[in-house]
Amino acid sequence: MQKTVSGIFKMVSSAQETSERTLKERQTLVSATGETLADTLHRVLEKEIAEGRLAPGSRLDEKEIAERFGVSRTPVREALRLLGATGLVESKGRQGVTVRTISMATLLEMFQVMAEMEGLCARLAARRITPEQRDNLEAIHRRLEAASVNRSDIDTFYEVNKEFHEAIYEASRNEFLAAQTRALRNRVGAYRRRVTYLPSRIADTLREHDEVMQAIFRHDGDAAHNAMRGHLNLLGDNLVDFIAHFS
Ligand SMILES: [Zn+2]
Repeated sequence: MQKTVSGIFKMVSSAQETSERTLKERQTLVSATGETLADTLHRVLEKEIAEGRLAPGSRLDEKEIAERFGVSRTPVREALRLLGATGLVESKGRQGVTVRTISMATLLEMFQVMAEMEGLCARLAARRITPEQRDNLEAIHRRLEAASVNRSDIDTFYEVNKEFHEAIYEASRNEFLAAQTRALRNRVGAYRRRVTYLPSRIADTLREHDEVMQAIFRHDGDAAHNAMRGHLNLLGDNLVDFIAHFS
């Protein structure tokens, strides 16, 4: 029998943890309606992996996760299976399930593909963006500028940056492309975070986002694609920084 999200909310509520992070998790769990318990767990764990909170190579213990969320092991097993299907985790025999570690060579290949996919999202958005989506994108950009002023608040910068990219996926009006791009972004997320939020990158990010946005607003697909590809490609100093932070 599948448990409902309100079910998991009650169970999570009954857990004794009161940290801010747990509260945030509860909100996440409540806002999602119509998901199975396994789906919800999958989403929460996926976010933690993409954000690097669950580091590459770390072990995902079924029992520990079940205790943390106050659920049985069955939905945890299903959530881990779903994470395995998108390549985020791998089963290593006796070691159990671990967050997949990606080699440098593979990462660079993935970045290259992601830059093109996000570029295609931007290209389509330049053709298809609605006036409402345009206003929304601009508002997100202003919030990112505001977040960049307070450089200690890197989490907000990370969240709003993600919103900017999500808004472009949505404006592309190609759900398949959006889903594929999001999945790839999640896989490289833990590694990206190490360089994207270096102080030197923050100013560049704002400038590059502005360039992408202006091209979309001009309905210039080629320029939007090129600007987005440039934003995500690891070239020159960015590549050197990335290699320096890779361990
Ligand atoms: Zn960005």
